[in-house]
Amino acid sequence: MKITKAEIVVSAVKPEQYPNDQLPHFALAGRSNVGKSSFINKMLNRKNLARTSSKPGKTQTLNFFNINDQFYFVDVPGYGFAKVSKKEREAWGKMIETYLTTSKNLRAVIEIVDIRHQPTEDDKLMYNFCKHYEIPVIIIATKADKIPRGKWDKHVKIIKDSLQLDPNDPLIIFSSETGRGKDDAWAAIQQYMYS
Ligand code: GDP
Repeated sequence: MKITKAEIVVSAVKPEQYPNDQLPHFALAGRSNVGKSSFINKMLNRKNLARTSSKPGKTQTLNFFNINDQFYFVDVPGYGFAKVSKKEREAWGKMIETYLTTSKNLRAVIEIVDIRHQPTEDDKLMYNFCKHYEIPVIIIATKADKIPRGKWDKHVKIIKDSLQLDPNDPLIIFSSETGRGKDDAWAAIQQYMYS
């Protein structure tokens, strides 16, 4: 994918603020610190478009990135910050839920997990939520450079078993450090672009 344009166009908290065109959306979800911003930046060949390691409370908006005037990446705030209050968590949940269940242009959720670790309860919740609403999911197992290649299969199996991953859902081994998996990730995105 050749990136000619990648710009944040809106930070939305409610449906009236979502872009009102018909371009496809790909939502990016993952627990805080999993490497979501790094994934976005790597995919778009940008250093700092999505802010890495953003603090809790700072990015509680849905950030829409216009890519090539062709589609949107929708950066969903990271889950699992212990410090966030119950009230904030509820507001977060509502915002995400509303977006995921009402956006007509959402083509897939790109769920980022850490290849090194068993998926968290939040990871499982997000996956099950998508399955329940029949939203296609692409799993990105990132930080692959942090474990030896010979251990990838074992870790992937743990992730698949733990999520009870549907065999039709793509799981891509990725590294924002090396760019490993980038072409596969774009191919998976393309596959859902016009579905
Ligand atoms: P976010 O909170 O999910 O947006 O996570 P960030 O993208 O800010 O990444 C959290 C930390 O993990 C940062 O220190 C990144 O440099 C690091 N990181 C992210 N992806 C990778 C990766 O693929 N490999 C390695 N080695 N580090 C990564």
